[in-house]
Amino acid sequence: MSGKLKPDIGKIVRYGPSRLYCPHLDRDDIQETDVLVLGSGAAGLMAALNAAEVCRVTVVSKGPLDEGNTAYAQGGIAGVFSESDSLEKHISDTVEGGYGLCREEVVRKVVSEGPELIRRLFEMGARFDRDEDGRLTLTREGGHHERRVLHALGDRTGREMERALGEAVKGSPSVRVMENTFAIDLLVDGDACMGALVMTPERRFRIVSARAVVIATGGLCQVYRETSNPETATGDGLAMAYRAGARVEDLEFVQFHPTTLYLAGAPRFLITEATRGEGALLLNVHHERFMPRYHPMAELAPRDVVSRAMLEEQKRTGSSTIYLDLRHLGAEKVRKRFPQITAVLKSYGLDVGTDLVPVCPSAHYAIGGVKVDLGARTTIGRLYACGEAAATGFHGANRLGSNSLLESIVFGATAGANAAAEALSAPHPEHPRLLGVCESGEKVDSAFPDVEIDVTDARNSLKALMWRSAGIIRDGAGLEEALSRIKFWARYLIYRRFTSPDGWELQNMLTVSRLIVDAALMRTESRGVHFRSEYQKTDPDWERHIYMER
Ligand SMILES: Cc1cc2nc3c(=O)[nH]c(=O)nc-3n(C[C@H](O)[C@H](O)[C@H](O)COP(=O)(O)OP(=O)(O)OC[C@H]3O[C@@H](n4cnc5c(N)ncnc54)[C@H](O)[C@@H]3O)c2cc1C
Repeated sequence: MSGKLKPDIGKIVRYGPSRLYCPHLDRDDIQETDVLVLGSGAAGLMAALNAAEVCRVTVVSKGPLDEGNTAYAQGGIAGVFSESDSLEKHISDTVEGGYGLCREEVVRKVVSEGPELIRRLFEMGARFDRDEDGRLTLTREGGHHERRVLHALGDRTGREMERALGEAVKGSPSVRVMENTFAIDLLVDGDACMGALVMTPERRFRIVSARAVVIATGGLCQVYRETSNPETATGDGLAMAYRAGARVEDLEFVQFHPTTLYLAGAPRFLITEATRGEGALLLNVHHERFMPRYHPMAELAPRDVVSRAMLEEQKRTGSSTIYLDLRHLGAEKVRKRFPQITAVLKSYGLDVGTDLVPVCPSAHYAIGGVKVDLGARTTIGRLYACGEAAATGFHGANRLGSNSLLESIVFGATAGANAAAEALSAPHPEHPRLLGVCESGEKVDSAFPDVEIDVTDARNSLKALMWRSAGIIRDGAGLEEALSRIKFWARYLIYRRFTSPDGWELQNMLTVSRLIVDAALMRTESRGVHFRSEYQKTDPDWERHIYMER
């Protein structure tokens, strides 16, 4: 916890250009706003709503407004609502789950400000599940010792939150929404962020000039072959903040979720931990329950423990097959509590009442991100970050289920309020200056002739490498191999001038992968979700955060 934490340790990593694209534009290509929010998940929309109370806001989203990790969240959002629970208990569970790296002041802030913001979601019309007497139905997830997980429409919590927040944002006269618009880079002058370069759906470059900018671009788990995250999660915000000179932190901590559906040809659909909270069991290929042999909390042990136990069990039995067993819970109960999961399984011919469900672990959540302080401020002036794109220190070295939506709305609200307050006192960037900055990045195109790149192939190769070498169990040799491959690919990919989002995403993924591998190599111990097979013990000297900057 803070106070006991050793000083952060950092590394300068100069990798790739400081900007991906530097077009020549003129004044007609500039549009002005007070606060620019990049991303429209729970964090970005909450930031936008708070900022819109006092100023003009523009929300940029690279897909439709409601596409992102938030919409896929099933299990729920944690908050202290039951009489047997308390803020201190939630704080203590979170800190215990964080393996010594939680920043206590951040944990206090998120846990204590969370319930009020969840009530705001009720007021916006988010339909959280209640019993016949109107009381919230709360469930448990791994690491939470109390029932404190609120859920909506069974297992559609994220989609319902996104709907309610999205409707509120669309109903606000102060918010302009730019969907299907890709943010390429931040425009930073000296130590102040002045806006961003974006590409519109018509494939036109635009500068969105802003008095303050909020990064809320979500996670990065698309850098892994197996992931529960949708296609949007390519770490764009993290990569652009790093290119702009912001400090990034805790990147070695990527959480792997134990249970995603593992069927050839089917997407890696997440099966929420709440199923295990309700009593579902994990079985090996011989249909034997194994988790009690690995941890006293069995199936509800922290996610890193369960994921590693599954790998261990696969090795022991010589079979990659692991099942989730929901049969004993009663088909009707499962259908009612997890309607979405039931429907998806049914579409692949699986009946939750009679069939075992094949599952595997997959990359799920980025604990690290753009470093922020308690006020969601990054190390660059007028630049804020929140949600999965940010590193606040809330989760420490592991994340408890349902704590990330909570962190997203709390830091989203803080980022929005503080960005708006700063915007009100900051001047609008001058147009000639802005155009000059936009054009002035490193030249990235001259070194490469016009040879064709198969972006999908490069992306898949990177994802396979990261899964193999920087996945659930890592070692120095594998990480070194990953580093040298990424550096090699970068020689012909990172300075290339791509002209569409798929190329820029690939460059962002290379940047993020490089930073993850660097951080994982530095941390010569095992802690939380970071497991090094040659350093299996937790080392008290490493009770510190690792940051990187250019
Ligand atoms: C399958 C699944 C289940 C989960 N279940 C839970 C759960 O039950 N409880 C819980 O607490 N957490 C859960 N999580 C984690 C949680 O959903 C996320 O951490 C959280 O929603 C992150 O919110 P966010 O607003 O930061 O990012 P997101 O919701 O991912 O939003 C990011 C936004 O940024 C936009 N964006 C990205 N790059 C660009 C760019 N270059 N230009 C413009 N826009 C861009 C995207 O389009 C998107 O709008 C789950 C995650 C997944 C994937």
